[in-house]
Amino acid sequence: MEHDELVSKHSVPGKQVPPEVRKQREETRARLRELKKQGKYVSPEMADRTKFPIGLDDNYEPYPLHQKTENASGDGGRGEGHIHRIAPTRKERFVGSILAGAVGDALGYTVEFESIDGIRGRYGDAGITDFDRRGGRGGEISDDTQMTLFTLEGLIRAHVRRRLTGSDDVLLAVQHAYQRWLHTQGNQWANAAGMFGAHAPAPDGWLISNPGLFATRAPGNTCITALRTFARTGQMGTFTHHLNDSKGCGGVMRAAPAALWSDDAAEVFHFGAATAALTHSHPSGYLSAGTLAVIVHQLLAGADLRAAIATAHSILLRWDGHEEQARALDAAIDLASAGRPTPEQIAERLGGGWVGEEALAIGVCAALCTDNLTDALIVAVNHSGDSDSTGAVCGNIVGAHYGPAAIPESWLATLELRDVIETITRDAVREFGPEPPSTPDWDQRYPGW
Ligand SMILES: [Mg+2]
Repeated sequence: MEHDELVSKHSVPGKQVPPEVRKQREETRARLRELKKQGKYVSPEMADRTKFPIGLDDNYEPYPLHQKTENASGDGGRGEGHIHRIAPTRKERFVGSILAGAVGDALGYTVEFESIDGIRGRYGDAGITDFDRRGGRGGEISDDTQMTLFTLEGLIRAHVRRRLTGSDDVLLAVQHAYQRWLHTQGNQWANAAGMFGAHAPAPDGWLISNPGLFATRAPGNTCITALRTFARTGQMGTFTHHLNDSKGCGGVMRAAPAALWSDDAAEVFHFGAATAALTHSHPSGYLSAGTLAVIVHQLLAGADLRAAIATAHSILLRWDGHEEQARALDAAIDLASAGRPTPEQIAERLGGGWVGEEALAIGVCAALCTDNLTDALIVAVNHSGDSDSTGAVCGNIVGAHYGPAAIPESWLATLELRDVIETITRDAVREFGPEPPSTPDWDQRYPGW
């Protein structure tokens, strides 16, 4: 399809296509041509990528990132001094949670496999405190953020399905989303799709059409293996059908979106844990995910950080196999109460974060022992462990706590796939809001299955 034809097909009636949308479409087409030239796989959906403008709503209006409000003192709001920030809204907190998770992932990804001595050797005694921009990089996200986006997409599509058909088969929609992620990791759709391939000769929906997601960033072996097993056998991992005995942090690092699913915290816990159990069968692999989802859920409602953790902790205790995660959470709270820990203390008391209960503990400790988002992320990634996952988990928490305005603009400016992350996050807020969109475009963007 030619460019002009695309533009006219997907134009908003009565609205001129803004130059930035036209530019975005042209850039995407150029990128796809480049990928094809390099012999990389370009699906029809990717080629169709130019349909949806990034960062703009259905009327080509930009999504506002921050809400400003006039000072209630009645002075007319003249000048900047009269505009002040109120506490973040629920919507802002959710955007903050996902964006800051990506920022923490990006900050930590650079040093994921590095010891603290190695980190200090490269960046000085304070460790890594900013994106490493050498070699024109910096802000590169990893599998943690990729999989978080697919969890979010699965949620949106499950919700669309429920609205349209009444079916509540949420987990199948999330599984389907993870099979699309598997496809982005170098697996042909025919081998990644499993049972979904019979109804979809190619992966569908908007998210998969973003070429930037087709990048391999040290993905967890447990996730890849479990999803390949599903593709082959059709067997979903559940609390009772175990695929493995893994408690790797691949479940918790992608679980924050589950916070949106319900108003009920126990349901959010169950759902967050169930999405992790699709790939991780050890209780600490999935209970960590349920616990994180509830912490974020409580923060979205405006709860204080300690209260949010306490609520999640109390729900955790109702689950079989909770002991290990509960002990790790207690250790995190205890360590944070003594002030900002050294990387050595984190390693000694909380571990390296390679497993679920430790990743959550380090994220929680870093959030509790600091009073701002930047410091929390710096504490979360500077240790001899799985820095991108602990950064991501901490970011999910502090992003919901402080809101997106607390994320340094210099980090957002070079955050990889920022536009995709923001767009799908805001789409999720719309889908789960009081008036979910009901246009054919929306259905095509998030098919309900
Ligand atoms: Mg990673």
